[in-house]
Amino acid sequence: MTTYSDLNIVPRTLLGPGPSDVHPRVLQTLAYPPVGHLDPQFLNLMDEVQDLLRFVFQTENELTIAISGTGTAGMEAAFANFVEPGDSVLVGVSGYFSQRMVDMAERYGAQVRRLERPWGLVFTPEEIEQALAAQPAKLVALVHAETSTGALQPLADIAGIVHRHGGLLLADCVTSLGGLPVQIDAWGVDIAYSGTQKCIGAPPGLAPLTVGPRARAALERRATKVANWYLDLTTLAQYWGPARAYHHTAPINMNYALREALRMIQEEGLEARFARHRAHAELLWAGLEELDLSLHVEPQHRLPTLTTVRVPAGVDEAAVRKTLLERYNVEVGGGLGALKGQVWRVGLMGYSSQRKNVAMLLAALREILGR
Ligand SMILES: *Cc1c(COP(=O)(O)O)cnc(C)c1O
Repeated sequence: MTTYSDLNIVPRTLLGPGPSDVHPRVLQTLAYPPVGHLDPQFLNLMDEVQDLLRFVFQTENELTIAISGTGTAGMEAAFANFVEPGDSVLVGVSGYFSQRMVDMAERYGAQVRRLERPWGLVFTPEEIEQALAAQPAKLVALVHAETSTGALQPLADIAGIVHRHGGLLLADCVTSLGGLPVQIDAWGVDIAYSGTQKCIGAPPGLAPLTVGPRARAALERRATKVANWYLDLTTLAQYWGPARAYHHTAPINMNYALREALRMIQEEGLEARFARHRAHAELLWAGLEELDLSLHVEPQHRLPTLTTVRVPAGVDEAAVRKTLLERYNVEVGGGLGALKGQVWRVGLMGYSSQRKNVAMLLAALREILGR
């Protein structure tokens, strides 16, 4: 039997599609001793987490909780609870994560229609309107910040259209929440989820989720039980609500970390935080263009939190990432799906969105590419 050494992980600077760097204040909370999941101290912490989540989601939604599991668990909770067999679901597909939505909706028995656009483009309200006029859908699902392409899907004018056609709007906010404006109530988004390890600045492990009144009413009208026991919001709401009924053991320490990361967002202020993400993204874009590198997404649709950089002809994209990791301890991402081999994905999310990180990455790329 091998004996293993003490854990020895070399810290990296995480400038990929997630996870992002975690502030020491957040890391320290992970080392607090766990208490019971029904301990009054923990129940009080849950209330605080919910209050802080409502603040970052900009919502009054009572059902605003942290799902146990990563961002994908948030996605799974959304489809498991708001899809019944035979329901019609319209998904805007223009990247990897919207394809994952299609797969999930189908597994829960939905009749899925895809509205497709090339990777890196977004949908206009008119396109959604036309698709729903042709055939209504009970649920319309869009990815707000598509991490596979670096495109930002505007959501502000879409919920009204979806509601007029009798549907609910579901938004994936994994790479937007905490890094750029997400205004659930002002935009009328009915269901939204995120993940802790991108712009929120905590380790991976929880999926913030918020559900508005229309969606809650739809949940109550379900004819069938939610087909996923662990993610069933009708029973999870009993644990996060006044009944405090045991459902599963909450990941106690991850909730400590989420609370601290959210508290840091509150301290920084949403506007200041969004301005920081934007300023560092603009610095990165200008620096990349100076290196003669081109960006995959047009400026008006570009995400400040995730930038897709086209790999120049003749450059081995994987070798560049390997050198960044081995020589500079910097992680960036490669392309996914339709963009595999064609782009690098550079994330400036949460605590990773720092001026020094932009400067270091640009200097490293200059050396590696010999520009
Ligand atoms: C990262 C990501 C997910 C999946 O989250 P995991 O934490 O990896 O499970 C879903 N949607 C988008 C847009 C993402 O960027």
